[in-house]
Amino acid sequence: MSMVNADSTQLLTILKNLQNSISSIETTKNSVKLKYQQLGNEWNDKKYYELGNIVKDCNKALNDLLQIMLQTEKYVASLAKSIQEYDNVSLDTNSAHNSFVQSLRVPNTGNSSYEYCLGVLTQGSMPSGYSGILSNRHENAEKSVKEVFDHYAGKLMIRDSEYPPNQTAHYSPANYIGHSRGVYYNAIADMTNPRGAGTTYFHELAHMIDHAACNYQNNLSNTPEFAAALIDDGQRILNLYNNLSPERQAAFLNRIRQNSAHSFSDLIDATTNGQLHGSYGHSRNYWTRAGNLQAEAFAHFFEASMGGQDKLELLSNFFPTAFGIFSSMIDSIRPDNQVRILSRER
Ligand SMILES: [Zn+2]
Repeated sequence: MSMVNADSTQLLTILKNLQNSISSIETTKNSVKLKYQQLGNEWNDKKYYELGNIVKDCNKALNDLLQIMLQTEKYVASLAKSIQEYDNVSLDTNSAHNSFVQSLRVPNTGNSSYEYCLGVLTQGSMPSGYSGILSNRHENAEKSVKEVFDHYAGKLMIRDSEYPPNQTAHYSPANYIGHSRGVYYNAIADMTNPRGAGTTYFHELAHMIDHAACNYQNNLSNTPEFAAALIDDGQRILNLYNNLSPERQAAFLNRIRQNSAHSFSDLIDATTNGQLHGSYGHSRNYWTRAGNLQAEAFAHFFEASMGGQDKLELLSNFFPTAFGIFSSMIDSIRPDNQVRILSRER
């Protein structure tokens, strides 16, 4: 047993070092780029152009390195998880003696227990019964969206499934030291989520897929057409609403105030500048940031498509143009579609 303990502790150290290195490469990359741009303000000739090529090469080398590091990180994490499983089964009841298991339980050092859920590497624990809920939603998902989820599952990561429930669940797109790229949320809270169990899980992972689909350089959803379609659809709903009788207006408001209409409420609030909304919505300030409307719509449509049938009906009926664009986005990143594109190129 002592051999196993030593190995798994080392593995955890390697994982931490890897994560620090990844952050430091990203910092270097950004600072080289910034310095080059600053130079350009005072120095703009042939030499600057040549330097530009060197910076480009340097950037490419750093990017390649980064990709390798990220893959290695994932590999080491899954190895740590396997060893943890081994430790769990081979331990006698006196598990407190096992240094690896102990290290997993030490608070404030980052949660180091790993598991896979729907193929997504998850740091932190999942409450019992939760994975069954997620699997059930996954089974009832729209075929094309499910295919995209499965295709990207290996690239996704939940960084913390035990994020404090009083803090906002989120996907962190940047790789900050101590706050790496991935999803932070509370799995226990999501199990009894009033908006539907598993809503936060699929919503936040959808944000990560949106980002991963563009190699973390942009969001797939970030197009002017998608924004325009969302606003057009929202304005049409507002017009329809304004022409309803007071009784039917009240009935409509009643419907969109229900928990199951949370995503509809959020999008109608955003696209009518707060003139129409139910019980859920982001702040006005949030919607002023470019790309946020499209990113939220993408995540809402995606989450609804992952086994949220009643939400899906509401969204696709009332936001038909935007939903059509979302569907083509999904089609563009479906695995069989990518194969088709590749074979056409041959
Ligand atoms: Zn969101």
